Amino acid sequence: MSVSQRFPLLKGSYEFLCRHIVKILIALLCLGLSIGLIGSYHLSMKLVESQAQQYASISLNTLNKARILYSDNVTSQLKAVEGVTVTPEYHGIAGAIPNPATFSIELSEQLSDRSQGTLFRLYSDYPFPNRQATGGPQDRFEQDALKHLRRNPTGSFHRKEKLNEHVTFRYAEAVRMKPSCVECHNTIASSPKTDWKVGDVRGILTITQPLDNVLLIAQQGLSGIYAVMLISSALAILGITLVMGRFRLMNVELEKKVEERTAELNRLANLDGLTQIANRRHFDQTLEQEWRRALRNNHPIALLLCDVDCFKQYNDTYGHQAGDDCLRAVAQILQNSAKRAGEVVARYGGEEFAVILPSANSDNAVSVANLIRKRLSAFQLPHETSPVDKYVTISIGIAAVLPSMSQTSAKLIRAADTALYEAKEQGRDRHVLWNERSGNVGKNSMQTQL
Ligand code: GH3
Ligand code: MG
Ligand code: MG
Repeated sequence: MSVSQRFPLLKGSYEFLCRHIVKILIALLCLGLSIGLIGSYHLSMKLVESQAQQYASISLNTLNKARILYSDNVTSQLKAVEGVTVTPEYHGIAGAIPNPATFSIELSEQLSDRSQGTLFRLYSDYPFPNRQATGGPQDRFEQDALKHLRRNPTGSFHRKEKLNEHVTFRYAEAVRMKPSCVECHNTIASSPKTDWKVGDVRGILTITQPLDNVLLIAQQGLSGIYAVMLISSALAILGITLVMGRFRLMNVELEKKVEERTAELNRLANLDGLTQIANRRHFDQTLEQEWRRALRNNHPIALLLCDVDCFKQYNDTYGHQAGDDCLRAVAQILQNSAKRAGEVVARYGGEEFAVILPSANSDNAVSVANLIRKRLSAFQLPHETSPVDKYVTISIGIAAVLPSMSQTSAKLIRAADTALYEAKEQGRDRHVLWNERSGNVGKNSMQTQL
């Protein structure tokens, strides 16, 4: 049992694949293209975001460093100096300088560029009284960042969101209490909370940066990539279609050639190599077919068996090569004498030929035999050693019957052979008709001299 018989589903799938190969290849290409397009979009968005995150982290780090530097090197030094006050509400007060938080807030405001959409903010859920209005979380992001960073003070919080019709990247980190901050915040009169501990999240530092420009550049880059990918895919589809078309064409041509070769082989298989008329194989098949057709249609059928007289002598006299030429000439005469539709002339074997005459009665068959012998006689092929004539002659056995169910085509051959034997017996160069009624060759009717 072959694999395809054992797994019919496998065979079915394989045939389906072969039948729809172009469609499947194009579908796979489109799938690959879609994955490529979506993948490159996500990759570029990721790049934009990670770039924004890196920039945000560096910026907030810078701000923090500035605040710590200010706290450690300015406020810590000056608060001990007589007449200097470190306070959030330092504006308009002589000798007052901003505390580090206020310094950070004001530096953030200075760094912010509202026209570009870049915004730095330091806010807290415990703003000093002078910053009650803007010091606390102002929107959902700031609330979420505060909530998240209270739980994870060492981490960061970020997300992409739309703000005033602009796509922005927002990033936040916690500002935590240092020992020097705790002391000040817990003692200053205006402080809203006085039980700060080191490490507490005092506030949240955020940066909001617009992504519109970067996104525009990324989208322009993507458009270029998409265009290249689409053009390449279109070319690939075109290539696949052309190649498959060529394969199909080659297949059709190949099938045509195979058909032609098969027809030629069949023709050759039915042809006699020497005489180029039908061979014995073709004769057997045709006689069987014609016999059945005659039986079906209740038509007569006739067979001539023709044998070249004294052919052995011919070979001995003129040589085997000349014998071949003689056989070819006889075959041609026979072929030209039985040309009606369905009539078949075949080489029966050696120097014997057979002629099948469908729908022919004995009169028709005798006419054909007469014609053959007449033409051969007119051809005057010399045969000087023949005891019959100085030219090549043939003897013909004729059988014409109306087939019946109880008989086979072998009966026709036997009958024609019996008649041929009789023609030889009676001296050759003649035809003899087998008599269907007596089942033998008749005394008078069977022999017809030219
Ligand atoms: P008869 O009149 O009784 O038919 O005598 P015959 O000599 O024709 O018959 P016989 O059967 O004695 O000899 C037939 C000869 O035909 C013998 C054989 O060498 C020759 N022969 C058979 N086939 C071929 C062939 O293809 N080419 C040639 N040249 N000779 C052939
Ligand atoms: Mg013979
Ligand atoms: Mg012979």
